[in-house]
Amino acid sequence: MSETHYWLLRCGNQLLTTIDKTGGNVFPLGRAADFGDPKEVLLVGEWQGLPCYAAEIDNLPENISGELMTIRALFNLAGDEAIYLAGRAIQLLDWQNNHRYCGKCGTPTPMQPGEYSKLCSACGLVTYPRISPVVMVLVSRGDELLLARSPRFKPGVFSALAGYVEAGETLEQCAIREVREEVAIEIDNLRYFKSQPWPFPDSLMVAFFADYAGGVITPDAMEIEAANWFPRSALPALPEPVTIARQLIEAACRKS
Ligand SMILES: [Zn+2]
Repeated sequence: MSETHYWLLRCGNQLLTTIDKTGGNVFPLGRAADFGDPKEVLLVGEWQGLPCYAAEIDNLPENISGELMTIRALFNLAGDEAIYLAGRAIQLLDWQNNHRYCGKCGTPTPMQPGEYSKLCSACGLVTYPRISPVVMVLVSRGDELLLARSPRFKPGVFSALAGYVEAGETLEQCAIREVREEVAIEIDNLRYFKSQPWPFPDSLMVAFFADYAGGVITPDAMEIEAANWFPRSALPALPEPVTIARQLIEAACRKS
């Protein structure tokens, strides 16, 4: 790999970014040798018309001028295209790292050429990167929105309800079950909003609006620290703008 490419290099939980990020130019450009010839390099897409590769590095090469930045910080700073490319790189690097052996027979499984898959040469099992769908539901009741907080949130922040889709479940069934389990509220009129890959570690967030259809908020003691109806004009602190949760809540406020 002697040509010049863009690089998404992960060092620990941080990505190597350019020092000067004007114009959204966040990923370093160079040859593999410039970055210490990283191993197990993955092609993850194109950035500004050039191929973009991802790899893990143990240390920042001494002669490289760049800034290591947490992935969360990059998400808050970069544009959509850079965020999706970085997210894709992180998920593929995690997959490469965490699925090195066939889950059925234990044989080492190299990456297949031409697609993101691994084929076991011994038993024929084919595996793909893991993607975990999460349904998010913003319930409204007249002018009010149902927002809740998990103990994992930053202090004071409330968001829409969300939960992982279970095996054999439709997105719609998941939405109804999650709202029922987390706050004992019934919903109807589920409407799709949009989706967002979220690489912490491998979620695909699928967001919906829904209407209140019955019940009294009764938070699940394990998952929900607090839940309330909030008037659209007096919302609590919300998740960061990059999140689909924030976009969902803001879209609901614009609609009213
Ligand atoms: Zn196998």
